[in-house]
Amino acid sequence: MSTKYVFVTGGVASSLGKGIIASSLAKLLQARGYRVTNQKLDPYINVDPGTLNPYEHGECYVTNDGAETDLDLGHYERFTGCPTSQANNITTGRIYQNVITKERHGDYLGKTVQIVPHITDEIKRNIKLLGNSGEYDVVITEIGGTAGDIESLPFLEAVRQLRWDLGEKSVLIHLTLVPFLSATGELKTKPTQHSVKNLLEIGLQPDILVLRTEHEINNDIRRKVALFCNVEPKAVIESRDVSTIYEVPMRMEIEKLDEIVLSKLDLPLNGEPDLDLWKNFLYKLNHYSQEVEIGLVGKYVELHDAYKSIAESFIHAGAVNDCKVKIRWIHSEKINAENVEETLAGVKGILVAPGFGHRGIEGKLKAIEYARTNNIPFFGVCLGMQMAVIEFARNVLNMTDANSTEMDSATPYPVIDLMDSQKSVTDKGGTMRLGAYKCELKEGSKAYEAYGRKEIEERHRHRYEFNNSYREVFEKAGMIATGINPDLNLVEIIEIPNHKWFLGTQFHPEYKSTVSNPHPLFVSFVKACLK
Ligand code: GLN
Repeated sequence: MSTKYVFVTGGVASSLGKGIIASSLAKLLQARGYRVTNQKLDPYINVDPGTLNPYEHGECYVTNDGAETDLDLGHYERFTGCPTSQANNITTGRIYQNVITKERHGDYLGKTVQIVPHITDEIKRNIKLLGNSGEYDVVITEIGGTAGDIESLPFLEAVRQLRWDLGEKSVLIHLTLVPFLSATGELKTKPTQHSVKNLLEIGLQPDILVLRTEHEINNDIRRKVALFCNVEPKAVIESRDVSTIYEVPMRMEIEKLDEIVLSKLDLPLNGEPDLDLWKNFLYKLNHYSQEVEIGLVGKYVELHDAYKSIAESFIHAGAVNDCKVKIRWIHSEKINAENVEETLAGVKGILVAPGFGHRGIEGKLKAIEYARTNNIPFFGVCLGMQMAVIEFARNVLNMTDANSTEMDSATPYPVIDLMDSQKSVTDKGGTMRLGAYKCELKEGSKAYEAYGRKEIEERHRHRYEFNNSYREVFEKAGMIATGINPDLNLVEIIEIPNHKWFLGTQFHPEYKSTVSNPHPLFVSFVKACLK
């Protein structure tokens, strides 16, 4: 079967949840036996979001092949359980970089290089890459930004051309906002009509409209929108606010989004979707017997999207443990020796988040000391693990001013140091230790117990690592390396066995937690917090 394409655009406002709608559609098609993948096109000039501050763009999500990508790819993986790759996230920056590289190489020799056809051809090539792999029946491509933005125009033009080339093999879903005017008690469809007009001006006719709304979209509104926007009334889909994003696939099933897409793509429904596992997960999300509060210590906590995958991993792990994990968002810059007890009072576990640079690290160290000395379950992720090593060096091994050379290049005890492979690196973009690496677990450790096997593979995004010249002193004093990269002999996991649950990972387990495969370390950590 040749691959079919679904395009998802957005209008009226940003942040309407295109990524969740695209992921939900993928889930439903997958549940009907289709091989699906999601792709995101981002209109910014950065080659990837790796160099973006989380305040700008939320979390940077990392794939197995080491691509630094948009956080929507995290949703795609969490919903479908299928790994994504570099091909699943393309930015304007990458498109231009490719075109300019080809130009310098002489590939366009003699021709003037232009947005149309050269940039649009490169966009089309990148959209079709996934389809041409033969691995997928349906590719769902989400175009970032809002229709009408200058930035997204080349992407939309490429979609226009591609839809022409593909004929019946594509569907365009447009997501808009239907605002509610409380003064008159009315839902307003005019912004949607204008947004569709905007698309029509550039030659795109949506097949399906998904209306984000706080209130019910009744049949009158459906008919009205259908009439003004040239779509069938049944192709006007309501997407009402729900309490959890995991509810959205069920809502889309009720609205028959999957059935309409399949009929427009001329694909069979294949009976009913198999959503047993999903429904079971949702049931657990809504029926739990206890709550557990866990402190998340980081320097971007004002923006929860900066820790998206961690927060979602806690939701998955909570469901497995029959509990709801409540996160107490704690700003690391605000923790000090005087208030640490008060700030962390009552939390049943502490996770210290990933990060870069020295801002807030003294607060992280205080939080870790508090967890270690009070036998409170502790989970350190990447920088969080590095901070746990530094805290141990300073307070247990009496290595005053021990540090990571990232924070203090002149520290007398560089317990965390730059990897050899990083020493000659000068460019910032795409040059960290990125993507999946093997790790071997020590039998008898908490990590081994959690995974239930010896060999694992986890995703990385860092430049610094545990300094092996200190390994022996640490192990003698009670901090053990329980996960080692077998090829590079790097410490990937540290634990304090003589503690209720004290574990740090140099990798990012949160990138691999999905609804169908909640991450074993998060599951084990939450379980320890409940004890
Ligand atoms: N800044 C640290 C490093 O580069 C940790 C990175 C992270 O937490 N992702 O090694």
